[in-house]
Amino acid sequence: MTNPSFHACPICSAPVQHQERYPQAVCHACYEKACDAQGQQLSFFNVSMSGGFGAVIADTQEDYPSHLCYIEGVTCWADEARFGGIVMQPHSG
Ligand SMILES: [Zn+2]
Repeated sequence: MTNPSFHACPICSAPVQHQERYPQAVCHACYEKACDAQGQQLSFFNVSMSGGFGAVIADTQEDYPSHLCYIEGVTCWADEARFGGIVMQPHSG
């Protein structure tokens, strides 16, 4: 029996705590692997206590003005989660 409060990570199939709003959210390990198109590691954060979305290149702290990221070759979209934090889901189109 599978626990209904988890879904399989769309990248690596690890169990991810399921949120109705983010049915395709990637797991933490994949989240940490998110890179830009050049393969540079990205770092995502909320810009303030009340939320907001920000991203930088982890190595250089250079601004990354996009929500697109790549995990194991899968294009993903990172965004501010409804209740804080950042959520990433595969992006199509
Ligand atoms: Zn994963």
